[in-house]
Amino acid sequence: MSRDGTKRPQGRSQRRSVRILGDGCAALSLAARAAELPDHDITLVRPAGAPAAAEHIWGFWGGAGLEAATRLARASWTRWAIATETDKVVMTSAARPYFALQRSDWTSYCRGRAAAAGVVMLDETPAMPPAIQQFDSRPPPVPRGMMLQHFIGLEVRAKTAVFDPETAILMDFRVDQSHGMHFIYLLPFSSTEALVESTLFSPQTLAEDEYLAAIRDYLARHCGLCEFETLRRERGVIPLGQLGRRDPAIEGIGGNGGAIRPSSGYAFIFIQRQIDNAIRAAGVTGRLAVTSPHMRVDLAMDAVLLTVLRHWPERAPELFLRMGKALTGDEFARFLNGEADWGLRLKVVMAMPKLPFLRGALRLVTNGGQAKYARAA
Ligand SMILES: Cc1cc2nc3c(=O)[nH]c(=O)nc-3n(C[C@H](O)[C@H](O)[C@H](O)COP(=O)(O)OP(=O)(O)OC[C@H]3O[C@@H](n4cnc5c(N)ncnc54)[C@H](O)[C@@H]3O)c2cc1C
Repeated sequence: MSRDGTKRPQGRSQRRSVRILGDGCAALSLAARAAELPDHDITLVRPAGAPAAAEHIWGFWGGAGLEAATRLARASWTRWAIATETDKVVMTSAARPYFALQRSDWTSYCRGRAAAAGVVMLDETPAMPPAIQQFDSRPPPVPRGMMLQHFIGLEVRAKTAVFDPETAILMDFRVDQSHGMHFIYLLPFSSTEALVESTLFSPQTLAEDEYLAAIRDYLARHCGLCEFETLRRERGVIPLGQLGRRDPAIEGIGGNGGAIRPSSGYAFIFIQRQIDNAIRAAGVTGRLAVTSPHMRVDLAMDAVLLTVLRHWPERAPELFLRMGKALTGDEFARFLNGEADWGLRLKVVMAMPKLPFLRGALRLVTNGGQAKYARAA
């Protein structure tokens, strides 16, 4: 019999000990579902040298299997926009809203569920008990020269109404483009409060002042907001591309298990999908099988897009605007959430200017199918 009193499938009477290095998004999201793994004893190990967890927002489009996350979300929008110097597209979807989930809300929820299901949480020590299966969720090494999504975001409060709380701004390219693809991401929590991020896709991070100047300049020029209170700050550097594992001897999970979508840096939804698939596999074979949540075709398309953005970043505003104009809100959400079928992929391909993508594909082919980087920094 299992811990919850249900009968175990025959031939799988042995309990499986599973150890996960890390207590971030992937480790806790899996631990929260321990009740679905009644034959497994799960231990989370907080790694030696782990930095203190920093608050931030996870943005994602809703969909099947995300009910707990959407219920806990701080805000959601059924309208979102992409803007360039010359044009703007607004997409809507009542069925697939865009959600903002506070990291601490999700991790507290997961910790509570994990504890109730008997998950053990330990600090790493030199003598850890043996485990049948081990996963490593510590961040993977990032090769020098890799494309990065890097940003600083400020949660700001204005004295008067300056934001449109109905519309999330996914990308506003009306900022300096001289360091690579650069846009403002603005999540309006009300008419006076918003998370405003200066985000770049490029291999080089910038000095802190440059992101902050971009935010200040944008708020002054486009929202008429020159004085504001800063409630919180968040910062991120997310590698865009396929990465090796932190320790090749240990199976990876989360960002260290290929969950970050290379073309967007989105990972929350893909981590949940990776965990869904692993739990489903455990139901069939008894073994948690953690695999990439991305389709090969999507990774190939992402590699070409990243090549275009790296070499011709000045084309970025036009590319994303075209995509926004070609797709409905539902389609855009499905594409970004990794749920595209062949028809939708074709629609995206047809919306793009052909020459840069042919040149990008050619560059990739002459590089042997992937970007070449220096060794991990
Ligand atoms: C500021 C920020 C905003 C983001 N916003 C979004 C978003 O809006 N939407 C989205 O889909 N994705 C977003 N992401 C990307 C992604 O969802 C997150 O990075 C997510 O937390 C990845 O989960 P993970 O479990 O792989 O890694 P983490 O949650 O980072 O967990 C990693 C684990 O490794 C430990 N660790 C880290 N460094 C070390 C070290 N040097 N030594 C030992 N242990 C270490 C940590 O303590 C933690 O236990 C964002 C990332 C950041 C940083």
